[in-house]
Formats: sequence, C-alpha cells, structure tokens
Amino acid sequence: MPENKVKKYFRLIEAWAWCPICEDMVALNIDKKEIIDGLKMSIYTKEFTHSNPNPDSEDPDDLSGNEHTIYIYINENYDVTGVKSFFGESPTTEEIRAEAAEEGGEVRIPIVVKEIPPMAVQFGMLNKEQFKVLKICDGMNRIEQVAEIAEISVEEIEKMMEELRKKGLVKVIKRT
Ligand SMILES: [Zn+2]
Repeated sequence: MPENKVKKYFRLIEAWAWCPICEDMVALNIDKKEIIDGLKMSIYTKEFTHSNPNPDSEDPDDLSGNEHTIYIYINENYDVTGVKSFFGESPTTEEIRAEAAEEGGEVRIPIVVKEIPPMAVQFGMLNKEQFKVLKICDGMNRIEQVAEIAEISVEEIEKMMEELRKKGLVKVIKRT
C-alpha cells in the first residue's frame, strides 16, 4: 500500500490518500483554515465522496465505480494520520471485522456511550487528549486505529479506555 502524502502550501494542502476501494491514490486540496477550525473541536476529518473513474471492467468484484466515501484524518501538522473508505453512511461491522482479520488480531471497537460537550474539558472532567480520543471512538475505528489517528501508543489508549470506561463514557465492543 503506497504511503499517504501531503504537500503543504501557504493557504492549503494537497493530500494524497490511499483509497482501498479504488486501489488508487485519491488527491484533494484542503484549506488549512478548514483544518484549523476542525482541530479546535479536537480532530479533523476530511470526508470525500467519489467514484473511481477507471474501474477494472474485467473484475466483477471491483465496485469502485460506485460512489463511496473516504475519511482522511489530518493532524495539526497537516499530516494524514488515518484513512478509511466505505460504501454508504458508515463502514459495516463486517467491513471492520474483515479489515481486522487481514491484520490478524482481536477486534476491539470503542464506542462513546454519552455525547460529551466541549465544556467537559473546561470543567476539568476530561483532559484535552481524552476529549480528542473520544471523538475518534465513533464505532468505526478499532483500538489500534484510534491509537494511530490520535498518535498515541496502543498501550496508552488501552489505559485511557479503561479510565473512560470506569467513568461510564465509553464501552469497548469485542469480537473474535
Ligand atoms: Zn475510492
């Protein structure tokens, strides 16, 4: 899988992200302002709906000509920390499971139980990092992916999940 790449300019960035459905790089320009605004609310995700203009017509399994969505997670340095592609509104549990099976391992999907207002950080109920991590726990990311997107080690994320679980803010769904 080719690496995601970013070219940074004064006002915008050019991002190339690998779309596993297209099996190709998807290129798009994003305003830095949009990213900065997004990051004020903890994480920034670029959502881009597209279809492959050149699907493999010989391959019946190639559905990339159909419209699908790529999520590109971008950090404060304008680097890509995670990518996710799916058909429809969100990835299905089967897709998340299939992806995990490829990498081999137990599937643990943390999901936010209660919507947390940003005020929670101001009131000291949560720290900024916990707030950011909770935003990534949208039911689409496995623990390992949450760690990657947040740029925190898996061990740290596991510890944090345990704390957040005790606070009744998150639950971790396990599938084998
Ligand atoms: Zn695609």
